[in-house]
Amino acid sequence: TVLVVGEINVDLICSGYSQFPQPGREVLADDVLLTLGSSSAICAMGLARLGNAVRFVGLVGDDAWGEFCLRTMADAGIDVSRVRRSAALKTGLTVSITSQQDRALLTYPGAAAALGEDAVDEAAFAGCDHLHVASYFLQPALRPGLPRLFARARAAGLSVSLDPGFDPQERWDADLRALLRGADLFFPNEMELAAITGEATVAAGLRALDDGRLRTVATLGAQGSATLHHGELLQLPAYAVDAIDSTGCGDSFDAGFLHAWLRRLPLRDCLRWGAACGALCTRGRGGTASQASVAEAEALLAQ
Ligand code: ADP
Repeated sequence: TVLVVGEINVDLICSGYSQFPQPGREVLADDVLLTLGSSSAICAMGLARLGNAVRFVGLVGDDAWGEFCLRTMADAGIDVSRVRRSAALKTGLTVSITSQQDRALLTYPGAAAALGEDAVDEAAFAGCDHLHVASYFLQPALRPGLPRLFARARAAGLSVSLDPGFDPQERWDADLRALLRGADLFFPNEMELAAITGEATVAAGLRALDDGRLRTVATLGAQGSATLHHGELLQLPAYAVDAIDSTGCGDSFDAGFLHAWLRRLPLRDCLRWGAACGALCTRGRGGTASQASVAEAEALLAQ
């Protein structure tokens, strides 16, 4: 079982407009979709779609959107018994204005921002072999407790992965550096890697984070993904697909990589599983609409 701790929110995705909205202007979208969003929830859904047992610890509001999120996750087979509902808080929302060329996101973090490390009780680890946390910088209440959460997870025998998911204004800081010492896998995208390390190239960024133990996997959008293998850059291309919407690609990549990594497949295969799941996720709008099944991923991997 994979334990995912993090945010749950809804995504309101507006798409198909002729011009990107400018301040003071209104444009008409062709379509709108309300769907389960947030980095952590999308990764959990990706893992469940691949047949992995998943348990989620999170916080939503006691409202219709929270109900929608929990039902969507439960229908996918995710154990949501440890997702709490707060009467005082609202479920978070991301409004996404998205086209092939551009994307702007506006997020109200809501209840998810109040999730603390204490929400994960010891029993939550039972039967789990891995802990995944996403959106480090977007979870202010969770951040201070994460080193402790990682240590507790490791003491309970779990491996640990982190996806930073943050605003590029944020910089690498001592807190994150210390936190990564307690992680096995780190999944920044290219922009995050550059912002965190201040390095201009992916190879230099990966080397800056290399401590001989932590594996950093950088996702490079349509350019694929990269990691260090025996100190050398290993970069694999993305699969060519007719991409409709890149929402959730990184989280679906994480799910694919973790699916292979937890089965102890070779590093190159982990990257390929990540790439296949990242690519297939682009087939539909929103992060979860078109996530890969094992059969779909295998069909792409066989090409
Ligand atoms: P994030 O969503 O975190 O910014 P990326 O955009 O780097 O992450 O995408 C994650 C992975 O998804 C990439 O490494 C790649 O394998 C896959 N991917 C993303 N965009 C495309 C695309 N247009 N075509 C094919 N694969 C893609």
